[in-house]
Amino acid sequence: MSFTPNHSAQATSSAVVNTNTATLKIDGRTGEGGGQIIRTALSLSMLTGIPIEITNIRAGRAKSGLMRQHLMCVQASQQISNATVTGAALGSSSFRFAPNAIQSGDYHFDIGSAGSTNLVLQTLLPALLFANTNIQAASTVTIKGGTHNPLAPTTDFLQHAFVPALAKLGMQVDIEYSQAGFAPIGGGVIKATITPFMRRAGSQPLTLTERGTLTNIALVASVLNLEYDIGKRELASATATLMDSGVDDTLMTSNTNHLDGIGEGNTCSALVTHQYGNQIHQEMFTLLGEKRTSAEKMGNRLAGLVKRYLFKTNALVDEYLSDQLLLPLALSGGGEFTARIISQHTETQAWLIEQFLPVEISFEAIDEQKNLVRVII
Ligand code: AMP
Repeated sequence: MSFTPNHSAQATSSAVVNTNTATLKIDGRTGEGGGQIIRTALSLSMLTGIPIEITNIRAGRAKSGLMRQHLMCVQASQQISNATVTGAALGSSSFRFAPNAIQSGDYHFDIGSAGSTNLVLQTLLPALLFANTNIQAASTVTIKGGTHNPLAPTTDFLQHAFVPALAKLGMQVDIEYSQAGFAPIGGGVIKATITPFMRRAGSQPLTLTERGTLTNIALVASVLNLEYDIGKRELASATATLMDSGVDDTLMTSNTNHLDGIGEGNTCSALVTHQYGNQIHQEMFTLLGEKRTSAEKMGNRLAGLVKRYLFKTNALVDEYLSDQLLLPLALSGGGEFTARIISQHTETQAWLIEQFLPVEISFEAIDEQKNLVRVII
């Protein structure tokens, strides 16, 4: 599989080393200016073969430069694409990355902190989906670190919202976690199995615009080496708040469980399922327990996220899945979806994808309740 870069240099293929390709310079302060720029630039560099130089890395953040999770993204990308890398170290404000051919395989990475395993995985997924498609060799990636981090998708989010969305595009990824990891200790382990993806000529754009009918709200609370009762109280509070707002209780299920792992942690989530015709869409809302925040307050907050999605918008896709869907759509047949909000992450992601690929990503406010996002190939 090859991609034609949207870049002054000549076309190249992910499987070909193109030493003539000019380096794409990326200012890490652009737009949202966070770790997403680094991760998406690495994914796209590997896929297109375009070398990159990223400067001003996370310059606007309190602790700027490459943190352990970002460095792991660079090192893991280097390993799977046999890249030449200069300047990447903890705290670096810039680095250069020149990829070679992507290799499928069985990879193991240890972030060495509670940094997000899920964000490292998201960096590698596009490349491994397109690796060695000719020999149909599946890859596995095992990553140690955090599975439940603030400001990042949890492993549950990837499993129940992101992966099902990829499946609609024909991309097959399975993610399991044997150990959960929360800050500050980490120690979580996830393993993903990635089946090579063939983009078919003339593949149909994906349409995710209509909500259809609400079919289920699955509330789940999990505790890691903490009292089971915390989870039960969170869900009781979330259920009561949702019922008070008129949500039909026959649509709700509750499940509290224990996680395996070291350290302590608590998470609660709501998986909201809608069906339109035979199309099912799952949105997931997650919270991490905080010291000094009661279980009841957590449950109430979780219900608040669900209520905002159910009653304040009729868009299908919520904030986080919106930015995370852009790259998979750009790498398959394109498509359109309705989004509750266009975040700065989403805008920055669109800008960055357009630096590498000949796609056009547009945002249109339909009304106060929703936006239309189009990814045109
Ligand atoms: P950055 O802030 O640049 O490191 O990017 C953070 C990434 O995590 C973005 O892709 C967000 O969509 C994603 N993200 C942040 N919070 C959540 C959440 N609660 N659920 C799912 N994804 C999230």
